[in-house]
Amino acid sequence: AHLARIEAVDEKVHAFLHVDRDGALAQARAVDERRERGEKLGPLAGVPLALKDIFTTEGIPTTVGSKILEGWIPPYDATVTRRLKDAGVVILGKTNMDEFAMGSSTENSAYGPTGNPWDLTRIPGGSGGGSSASLAAYEAPLAIGTDTGGSIRQPASVTGTVGVKPTYGGVSRYGMVAFSSSLDQGGPCARTVLDAALLHEVIAGHDPLDSTSIDAPVPPVVEAARNGTVAGMRVGVVRQFSGEHYQAGVMQRFAESVDLLKELGAEVVELDCPSFDLGLSAYYLIAPSECSSNLARFDAMRYGLRVGDDGSRSAEDVTALTREAGFGDEVKRRVMLGTYALSSGYYDAYYGSAQKVRTLIVRDFEKAFEQVDVIVSPTTPTTAFPIGERADDPMAMYLSDLCTIPTNLAGNAAMSLPCGLAPEDGLPVGLQIIAPAMKDDRLYRVGAAVE
Ligand code: GLN
Repeated sequence: AHLARIEAVDEKVHAFLHVDRDGALAQARAVDERRERGEKLGPLAGVPLALKDIFTTEGIPTTVGSKILEGWIPPYDATVTRRLKDAGVVILGKTNMDEFAMGSSTENSAYGPTGNPWDLTRIPGGSGGGSSASLAAYEAPLAIGTDTGGSIRQPASVTGTVGVKPTYGGVSRYGMVAFSSSLDQGGPCARTVLDAALLHEVIAGHDPLDSTSIDAPVPPVVEAARNGTVAGMRVGVVRQFSGEHYQAGVMQRFAESVDLLKELGAEVVELDCPSFDLGLSAYYLIAPSECSSNLARFDAMRYGLRVGDDGSRSAEDVTALTREAGFGDEVKRRVMLGTYALSSGYYDAYYGSAQKVRTLIVRDFEKAFEQVDVIVSPTTPTTAFPIGERADDPMAMYLSDLCTIPTNLAGNAAMSLPCGLAPEDGLPVGLQIIAPAMKDDRLYRVGAAVE
């Protein structure tokens, strides 16, 4: 049924870069056989899923939305891919994304944009717009995204779906193509909080193949999602998550969510987190710095595209020509910014300062979580904007992540879930819930209560 739905609508939505029809049917049949043999299967066995094209899939193309990896077929599965397969989840295909997960609209994909199923002339968010659009278009009931600065939560917000950035280290990064290694985190996308929890449980947990993977039990997210409540909880509202960049209808729905939390028995506490105002600036030094280093591996020798290798050129020239042809503008902008910020003489002024801001943000969160159990905010300042509106204005695009970035810098956990439609444009608004590190279950407890 989902393959038929993809066939019917994906020409318009363009959520998928690759649909693995035969593989999906084979996986589904394999689950049936396991069931017939009397094997005890988990709750997601046989459930279809859309996988962001940043996770390696053995034998299936993985492009990361870039021309530089066009034609590359990974010889191995990411840990997330492997865990999904072991759980009997049926992988329908790979979803569209901003190139190397850099963007907030999926317009930076080298393979063309994805439409927001609510209004195909608008962006589905990014970088994981394909994953969220596939949920909103009913092409898949579950999806996987990655969130470096908001790429799971912002697409969830603007498509009226649920998305969770787990605690950093909660989900293995092995086989997840690196953008900014100290920020990148894979996580679940779904249409309900409980669905997201069931998926979270499948993909999370320690992995010796990822040196930053946390060796501790996965927080009890499914139990929390089945027992939603906020009674007696303290919920923080941060002053810094409001102001001139926020759409009126977004703030209205957010205020209603806060009222609902009070009605359900939560105590609402106003918080001041002054360093959050510096989050965006710190992020746009740290993320490009790490990406300039990570993307050095795309040298035309190891993977995918190779341009100008006609026997007359040096390896350096072939590398340069390939990177010139294979990377898009945003990726080049960030590699240049990052290389500059890390260069001798500038390191302390830029990268070093950004790391100090990061520590200040960690401290703001620590202070906040002494007073509250969770923090709530809008997920993103505006609803889905028209395709093209911010494409030539990186600063305007970067503002999409005002509320999501502090969590990545601090490494704790956050969820976005729908909280109604903005009255002025009828488009979905997202409520963000933020919890301390390794308290991911709180997201699901609160999310299930207000869903
Ligand atoms: N929009 C942010 C960026 O462009 C976040 C991307 C992400 O989370 N992968 O970097």
